[in-house]
Amino acid sequence: MKVTFPHMGNTYIPVKALLDELGIEYVIPPFNNKKALELGTKYAPEMACLPLKINLGNFIQAHELGADLILISGGCGPCRFGYYGEMHREILKDLGFNMEVFTLDISKKDISGFLRNIKRITGEFKPYKILKAIKKTAEVSKQVDELERLSFKIRPREIVKGSADRIYKSFQNSVLNKKGAKEIKELIDFTRKNLLDIETDKSLDPIKIGIVGEIYTTNDPFTNFRIESRLGNEGAEVMRPVTVSGWIIDHMIKKALGLKGDESYKEAAKPYLGAMIGGHTQETIGNTVLLAKDGYDGIIQILPLGCMPEIVSESILPSIERDLNIPVLTLIIDEMTGEAGYLTRIEAFVDLLKRRKEEGLIAGKRMLSWN
Ligand code: SF4
Repeated sequence: MKVTFPHMGNTYIPVKALLDELGIEYVIPPFNNKKALELGTKYAPEMACLPLKINLGNFIQAHELGADLILISGGCGPCRFGYYGEMHREILKDLGFNMEVFTLDISKKDISGFLRNIKRITGEFKPYKILKAIKKTAEVSKQVDELERLSFKIRPREIVKGSADRIYKSFQNSVLNKKGAKEIKELIDFTRKNLLDIETDKSLDPIKIGIVGEIYTTNDPFTNFRIESRLGNEGAEVMRPVTVSGWIIDHMIKKALGLKGDESYKEAAKPYLGAMIGGHTQETIGNTVLLAKDGYDGIIQILPLGCMPEIVSESILPSIERDLNIPVLTLIIDEMTGEAGYLTRIEAFVDLLKRRKEEGLIAGKRMLSWN
């Protein structure tokens, strides 16, 4: 049995740590690429979500490398994510691929069920070993996110453009050759040191842009045309509140333990959206409010074409834009999105924000009565 899993930005790093710690044999699919997108687009229903299509491409490419068991997280709630496992299973079966799809159900507050699920893959029930591996995985995912955030801060300030990109890219490739949480953490420490060694202009006060929206398109650089790196190199400091560690720790581990994660975004979203309607809508709305109040200069919302929860967010964001005086750019991505037009919109948005900053326009200043 060889396990594989879908790509989504840096997710492969903590998942790799987990599988290494549990001693499970696995295949990491090639990084997201054009071929994977083509395969997914060819075999998935036309109106399926873009992440499902790329994931399907990942699985087909991993199958070519010997993988026969797909590990994905499950979901519930009013969005198509809950059907992903079943859809992948059916599509791959129709295509004649002999691959089992294993969905880690995270919809229940049930740690023993969660452990039993993992036991089905490891073949042994050693709760202590599994919990230890999960703890290490959570630590790795947090450190990976911190490293990413450091790169967001350095890019707009670095003297030699491209330095942070080069070091960060090298980290993402080198981590494939590391085994287990300890080696991965050592590489993270090494990379952090290299990033901190980059010469920067400390006097610079760059514009700050928050990235919100659907988790896959915001977190995956292939899908969003490396937006964070491009914004950084355009002189903008980026912040993306929804991260891989947030997903693993708050949505998987804490949920399984019946614990609550940081839910400040829910409170912030309340005046505009009082209920969970699927996907990351509450995060998108709440984080936009929080970032505006935190003095961010602009917000970019990214979503796949037809993403139901984010279409709702898109319809609410103009109210926040008006109430808190913060410009919002919405980018909708599908397999047909052309890079040139997409980049032109980003560059124009950055220019707008720089001009506003020069004119002293600050977001979040026109507060509502509920503040
Ligand atoms: S959040 Fe959007 S893209 Fe993701 S599964 Fe739901 S509908 Fe599809």
